[in-house]
Amino acid sequence: TIDYDVVVVGGGAAGLATIASLLKRHPDLNIALVEPSDKHYYQPGWTLVGGGVFEQSSTVKNMADLIPKCVSWFKNAALDFSPHQNSVFLSDDTKLSYRSLVVATGLKLDWSAIPGLEDNLGRNGITSNYQPGMAPYTWELVQKLEHGNAIFTQPPMPIKCAGAPQKAMYLSCDHWLRDKRLQNINVEFCSAGAALFGVAEYLPALMSYVEKYGITLNLQTNLIAIDADSKTATFKKTNADSSTEIIEKSFDVLHVTPYQVAPDVIRKSPLADAAGWIDVYPDTMQHKKYANVFALGDCANSPNSKTAAAVRKQAPVVAENLISMLTDQKLRAVYDGYGSCPLTVERGKIVLAEFIYGGKIDPSFPKWLIDGTKPSSLSWFLKEKMLPPLYWYAMLKGHEWMATPIYRDDLPTDRHAKPSCNF
Ligand code: FAD
Repeated sequence: TIDYDVVVVGGGAAGLATIASLLKRHPDLNIALVEPSDKHYYQPGWTLVGGGVFEQSSTVKNMADLIPKCVSWFKNAALDFSPHQNSVFLSDDTKLSYRSLVVATGLKLDWSAIPGLEDNLGRNGITSNYQPGMAPYTWELVQKLEHGNAIFTQPPMPIKCAGAPQKAMYLSCDHWLRDKRLQNINVEFCSAGAALFGVAEYLPALMSYVEKYGITLNLQTNLIAIDADSKTATFKKTNADSSTEIIEKSFDVLHVTPYQVAPDVIRKSPLADAAGWIDVYPDTMQHKKYANVFALGDCANSPNSKTAAAVRKQAPVVAENLISMLTDQKLRAVYDGYGSCPLTVERGKIVLAEFIYGGKIDPSFPKWLIDGTKPSSLSWFLKEKMLPPLYWYAMLKGHEWMATPIYRDDLPTDRHAKPSCNF
């Protein structure tokens, strides 16, 4: 057994941002990171890779170059959580013990849930910006398509970055429009959801692009199977009277957003809620049952939209509360549910959706500078030029730009306590 002050499971956006925030507050913390991958991905960049704006290589870095030197990196997957023993077991049988645990494993892309998808992804016109390394194939298909049917799908919630399925579609349409091919291409958006986007304030701007590009909107129409040989996609459509029908559509390009579920290792652990996600208080991100466990990012059950933007605000909250917990102080830092979705409606313009819990819009900028409900070139500049360096050099380094936690002194007292320690 190896003992640590903090064990962080997952070195994605959430794990690395939390480590940076912890070390910024307490450089002496003895931290272990459990992360099997030697690559770290900037996933928000994949929409722009699929739209021919970014190179794939600009969205990947070596994990080793991002992990602070004072952190012990265990290059394995966590296989088993024993929160009652304050331990995590790794795939090579190592047992790590902790005073506090941070779980940040992200979610699982469930390719196998749609028959015909997993084996054909990356060929026969079937693509997905969600799959690491697949966005360049999206761009290849977009460039090659002269005429025919292009279908973009969205499964039932939850998915990470709920706007990403339609972002891919708008950028593709923009390319076809500029190249004077759009009139020869039949574009359809098939979503399992009942609305194009979950926050109503952004719908007028998005609908204006649906009309501009002549997109056929099929709501409550869920992809259930693909026949790659005949290039046919099968959907289950739910009608207004709740009756259902099976519809087949032929495609030349099919951009699929897969079902997204809790990772198996989380789902089977004592940390999970009934749906498989880690059961945390949505304000402090502390586990509801195990006071020395925190979770953030896509694996947590807090009802925010699963985005890196949410992680940017959650990481300082977790760092602050975790240190309070270890030093037997009252937890005070609160996350308000902030999430953001920069909807790339055309090359050079973005509808910048920003909201907190309850779908209440929460703009970061004054309206005269950026009105998030309208397409804006400044928002595009932010997404293309500002957000990647903000991610790599601020968020992953513990510089909490525009992410200072909210503090509250009235949180219920039964939520803090437990093991105090001397650093
Ligand atoms: P991840 O970043 O996915 O990291 C999880 C890490 O955990 C990985 O490194 C993985 O290897 C590791 N791991 C998994 N299992 C284990 C295990 N058992 N043991 C140890 N480690 C494990 N967000 C935005 O804010 N804006 C956007 O515009 C945006 N666009 C997006 C577009 C696309 C196409 C996609 C796919 C995502 C987009 N997102 C966007 C969402 C954003 O990327 C995620 O919400 C964010 O990466 C979540 O961070 P995370 O750390 O929870 O998960």
